[in-house]
Amino acid sequence: MTKPFLTLAFALALAACAASAKDSVKPKGPDEDGTKPALTSIAGEGFYDSRAFTYLTELSDDVGGRVTGSPQAQKAVDWGAAKMKNIGLQNVHAEKWSMWKGWTRGTASAQLLAPLNRTLTVAAMGWTGSTPTQGVDAEVVTANLFDLDEEMANLPRFRGKIVLMKPEGVPRKNFWMLFAQYGDFLKELSKAGAVAVIGGQGGFKAEGMNLTHTGIIGFAQDYAIPVVDMTMEDEGQLERFLAAGKTVRVRINVQNTFTGGPVESANVVGDIVGREHPEEIVVVGAHLDSWDLSEGATDDGTGAVSVLAAADAILKSGQRPRRTIRFVLFTGEEQGLLGSLAYVKQHAAEMKNHLACLVLDDGQGPIKELQLGGRNDLMDSMKAFTESLGNIREIDVNDKREFGMDTGPFILAGLPGINMEQDSPDYKYTHHSAADSLEEVKPDVLTQSAAIMPLTAFWIADRPERLASPWPAERTAKMLRQKGDYEMLKSFNLWTFGDLGLDASTGVN
Ligand SMILES: [Zn+2]
Repeated sequence: MTKPFLTLAFALALAACAASAKDSVKPKGPDEDGTKPALTSIAGEGFYDSRAFTYLTELSDDVGGRVTGSPQAQKAVDWGAAKMKNIGLQNVHAEKWSMWKGWTRGTASAQLLAPLNRTLTVAAMGWTGSTPTQGVDAEVVTANLFDLDEEMANLPRFRGKIVLMKPEGVPRKNFWMLFAQYGDFLKELSKAGAVAVIGGQGGFKAEGMNLTHTGIIGFAQDYAIPVVDMTMEDEGQLERFLAAGKTVRVRINVQNTFTGGPVESANVVGDIVGREHPEEIVVVGAHLDSWDLSEGATDDGTGAVSVLAAADAILKSGQRPRRTIRFVLFTGEEQGLLGSLAYVKQHAAEMKNHLACLVLDDGQGPIKELQLGGRNDLMDSMKAFTESLGNIREIDVNDKREFGMDTGPFILAGLPGINMEQDSPDYKYTHHSAADSLEEVKPDVLTQSAAIMPLTAFWIADRPERLASPWPAERTAKMLRQKGDYEMLKSFNLWTFGDLGLDASTGVN
């Protein structure tokens, strides 16, 4: 694991930095850098005349759930592009990319046969397989999610069984490493002849009253074995029966369809071209795709419509930033950040001209933090901005890294992939579930987020000095290793730095 290691040269460099920091002046916020009048008029449009909730109503009811690669997702792409044109963005276009395989949900049902007989509520996890058409009756046995090393050493005991994932004891790995190993375990279970798996997101139990939560398992991974999420109430009862030593039998029938790849999708892109440095780009993004148990209003309808409403507020204000603001509706986020990974790849040649990527993808609550994706060099500058928002909302600034959303590929590119972290206690119920609906979104909260987004983007794009350039790969790799992200990124095939950032003197990761 990572240990910060101070070489003499590094210590000297630190000392030099400290000295120059003492001499340098405090970064300027909107009050001193000349951006305030423009921000004030954008705030007026954003708060007083926001179209965010109207857009969200359209996306929820005219488009609905939109799984990447499905006809509904294509409808969402067309809708997003039409909206961008209608708002008045320039260069509006869809940027095609393709994914390894498509998937369509069919039906999923389960019946408890012993020790009681009753119907259980389940939903298939995305990109997982099917039972035989008539379903299967089988005994349920547990596997300990927190000790998959041990479970993988005893695979024959799962032959012919339905495997119920149960976390027991203390986890010996972090969440992301458990998530990666869970995927490996599912592949081994298939080979070992298990018939189905009851195990939701990351193998954990569902949240909420009688809800199931679908989702992908891993980044761009599919599984032949049927995997279902079960409501926590139903799963809890099965666990009690098993703990009491009772034999539990379940009939399960899951029918899904895979489509051979590659399957085409597209990100939707539109610009407000900068007046002084049109080649320099600040990205504002969120994902347009969703799951299909409901409308995807909170994951990530709120983010997608905030991107559109942000563009709308800036254009209606008549303000034009120094640099280009690029609005992007990513797709394929739910299958493993596929659209944002594709964006960074397709724009590799111009990444050096990118300054940052702002992402809103944490549900329906108000923004509480700007997480700068490892870029601790930008904290003071960003704080000078967030302090100016004090009358709207107190927003913290830190350098946390978020790889579970479209910030990830930008962080890997050395940029501030900025997660506009929200305070969304209900999101654990709504995301990926049948409760992900317009009813869960408060118009006033959405309006506030959809106004803070253009203020942040415009300030970055318009301040006299360029906020950030991508770090060299060596520096990014070193930061990621020091923060302890190496193993997780490696296990999801996202580590592209080879040996870069490795401390030669210690060989430490
Ligand atoms: Zn999301």
